[in-house]
Amino acid sequence: MSYLPLFIKADQKKCLIIGGGEVVSRKLPSLIKANLRITIVSPSINDDIKLQIKQNKDIKHISREFEKSDISDQFIIIVASSDNKVNIEATKIAKHKKILVNMAEDAKEGDTLLPSIVDRDPIKIAISSGSASPILTRLLKNKLETLIPFYFSDLANIMMEYRSKVKERFKKILDRRTFWENFLEGPISEMVLSGQEEKARDALDEALKNKNEQKKMGEVYLVGSGPGDPELLSFKALRLMQKADVVVYDRLVSEPIMNLIRKEAKKIYVGKQKADHSMPQESINELLARLAMEGKKVLRLKGGDPFIFGRGGEEIESLINDNIPFQIVPGITAASGCSSYAGIPLTHRDYSQACIFVTGHLKDGTVNLNWNMLAHENQTLVFYMGLHGSKVICSELIKHGLDKDTPAALITQGTTKKQKVYLSDLENLPDMIMSNKIEPPTLLIIGKIVNLHKKLRWFNPLADLNNNFL
Ligand code: SAH
Repeated sequence: MSYLPLFIKADQKKCLIIGGGEVVSRKLPSLIKANLRITIVSPSINDDIKLQIKQNKDIKHISREFEKSDISDQFIIIVASSDNKVNIEATKIAKHKKILVNMAEDAKEGDTLLPSIVDRDPIKIAISSGSASPILTRLLKNKLETLIPFYFSDLANIMMEYRSKVKERFKKILDRRTFWENFLEGPISEMVLSGQEEKARDALDEALKNKNEQKKMGEVYLVGSGPGDPELLSFKALRLMQKADVVVYDRLVSEPIMNLIRKEAKKIYVGKQKADHSMPQESINELLARLAMEGKKVLRLKGGDPFIFGRGGEEIESLINDNIPFQIVPGITAASGCSSYAGIPLTHRDYSQACIFVTGHLKDGTVNLNWNMLAHENQTLVFYMGLHGSKVICSELIKHGLDKDTPAALITQGTTKKQKVYLSDLENLPDMIMSNKIEPPTLLIIGKIVNLHKKLRWFNPLADLNNNFL
């Protein structure tokens, strides 16, 4: 069987659908989107079709069995009755009248296939396996859906909007192509994809005014890579990781995540370790700005979320001062990742009505925190960077009124295959840390809610199997 892939203008052309079951409810949305004039003939229709008709008042439903005279001058007929005799008869009549037929039951009997569609209107990707395997088609569709940015439509629309202006400005086809290639590879397209369309228009107008040679503009992506499990990356994070020319990363970004970065990208490590600041914050800020000014796409990759104990704000501030385009992509923060993977909810109607993220990083050996606010029952405390300050943290919380039996959990390398969960209480936690020689990265969760771990734990990485739940 050979098919010609073709996009046909369907606007207001007549479409007859015979049938009212699941196949019709599945096909109906793409027929509606194509703006066909739809009539459904079927004694009954399912609830989903009823709902689609309610939302699209132009669809006509004739509630009776199919009759030969229903087929007259339609553009296409979708044959999907539960009675196969009806299907065969309708197909025969339609073919005789040279009307296109799509037959659900036996695609080969009809002469069209309705493809699976990845829709980024006006961009449409139609997929068909020639009726060999709908499952395969669906799999392909799902893969493409994750690869193609959701706002790709906006990109196509803005290109359409600027088409004539660009043609006016660049007379030679080659110059136009360079302009659009720079647009697609550079920061302006990213502005569109991240919902900053007005800014993108300003930048496009500016680029068109520019009489000089087309200059490549750099940009910075400040991206949160989550707590470690690469499956927890967002689509956007992954897309930008595969677009970058250079990556500036720190210690908390896990190896499997680093392996997903575009192979050609240069990798610069600026990670900080306690008492070993491998690169001061100001130098990181300068580095990002310098690389972007050289025209590079700079990926600033951080563990967890860039705006939660990630100094993301400081880095962005310096980019703003230098007028460098950037975007920020949130990541799953350690608290969310560790709590889910350890089976310790951060809030619970019975045990905890609030959750506070706290830094346990000690300045001069003390933690300057509002202990009165922190030492409350019925709230969850999550300490980031709390391992070395745990002794002070526990004793201050007890001193300010928390019960010394208050449960505490330490989660190390959360969400990774090396995750371990240690349970204790405020009184015994510091000793437990000493005797187990626990290493960072470690997240500390304190509150009654920790008791739920025993019931809700589900993630059992190998490393944790021999662990004694204290
Ligand atoms: N921006 C990051 C936090 C950076 S501060 C985020 O949103 O997660 C660094 C601290 O985060 C570590 O000291 C540790 O307390 C915590 N952390 C990060 N990743 C972790 C992980 N996989 N397991 C446990 N703790 C983690």
